Amino acid sequence: PLVLGIETSCDETGVGIVRGHTLLANTVASSVEEHARFGGVVPEVASRAHLEAMTPTVERALEQAGLRFSDIDAVAVTAGPGLAGALLVGVAAAKAYALGIGVPLYGVNHLAAHVAVDQLEHGPLPKPSIAMLVSGGHSSLLLVPDVATNVISLGSTVDDAAGEAFDKVARVLGLPFPGGPHIDRAAVEGSGTAVAFPRGKYDDGTLDFSFSGLKTAVARWVEAKERAGEAVPVADVAASFQEAVVDVLTRKALQACRRYDVKDLLIGGGVAANSRLRALAQERCDAAGVRLRVPRPGLCTDNGAMIAALGSELVASGVSPSSLEIPADSSFPITSVAM
Ligand code: ATP
Ligand code: MG
Ligand code: FE
Repeated sequence: PLVLGIETSCDETGVGIVRGHTLLANTVASSVEEHARFGGVVPEVASRAHLEAMTPTVERALEQAGLRFSDIDAVAVTAGPGLAGALLVGVAAAKAYALGIGVPLYGVNHLAAHVAVDQLEHGPLPKPSIAMLVSGGHSSLLLVPDVATNVISLGSTVDDAAGEAFDKVARVLGLPFPGGPHIDRAAVEGSGTAVAFPRGKYDDGTLDFSFSGLKTAVARWVEAKERAGEAVPVADVAASFQEAVVDVLTRKALQACRRYDVKDLLIGGGVAANSRLRALAQERCDAAGVRLRVPRPGLCTDNGAMIAALGSELVASGVSPSSLEIPADSSFPITSVAM
């Protein structure tokens, strides 16, 4: 079946079309530039941008796939978590499309979709897999017996998300928002061992994360340099901060694999686009005999294909469609795959 997926949980209006595990179209309109001068996503601005971008983005996706509305067999949409007003635009549009075309609607979990999207690139996800979800709002380790029906949380951040830490440290270093890609790029010229920044919850025996202490340590270190009238070595700070984050992330991901005796690790979410995370994860997985799957960077950050991919998985698994009355749930828990 052909599934149209709609994503509006944050600042990307994403529309994807998939058939099974095959990606047919993926179009994204982003309002990120409208938010940049505020240093973060402004909810009202995002909602209005989704409203304006929705119809053209859906039309572009159909055009890209060479399809018409009547070819679509199901509509999937992010029901949460995310910004309430932004989610509402997508959910309302998806209901209208499902009703208009006369096909079932699937309200899906954005976080499970960050996991499911990998199937478009690497085929069926082994059951079970360990998934590490690292994004702007979340950082979690998951045991995934079946991405369509069963996602179990093993641990998550107790304070900031990994992406949030990247964005806040970027701001301290005077890099533009969103900071993750800028830190990634700046770090190439620096040394990951230049500054010994703290690694939160490194040896605490849990599968939880903590990044706010690290973020504060970087800010203090930079302030001290500035007070002393010395130049801030941006590349070295970026590289050392990044090394601290990816060291903890990959260490805990492999601990989860060992603890649950799982040999397949998937990393998803916007931070999975990070080049150093991808490299260190590969190195440590190779050493541990774990197979690593990471979607290409364009499928790690928010997009519509991931929503279509999860919708497609729900259809294939015979999960019941959602009611046309479903709400948008800004705090939809990671353990509920669909509404
Ligand atoms: P969530 O999925 O938790 O609702 P979100 O949808 O805002 O959050 P994503 O689009 O999945 O998040 O990820 C965005 C985050 O990923 C931002 O914090 C951004 O800085 C970070 N990010 C993107 N590319 C990179 C990179 N190359 N290195 C590090 N972080 C990155
Ligand atoms: Mg975004
Ligand atoms: Fe996301």
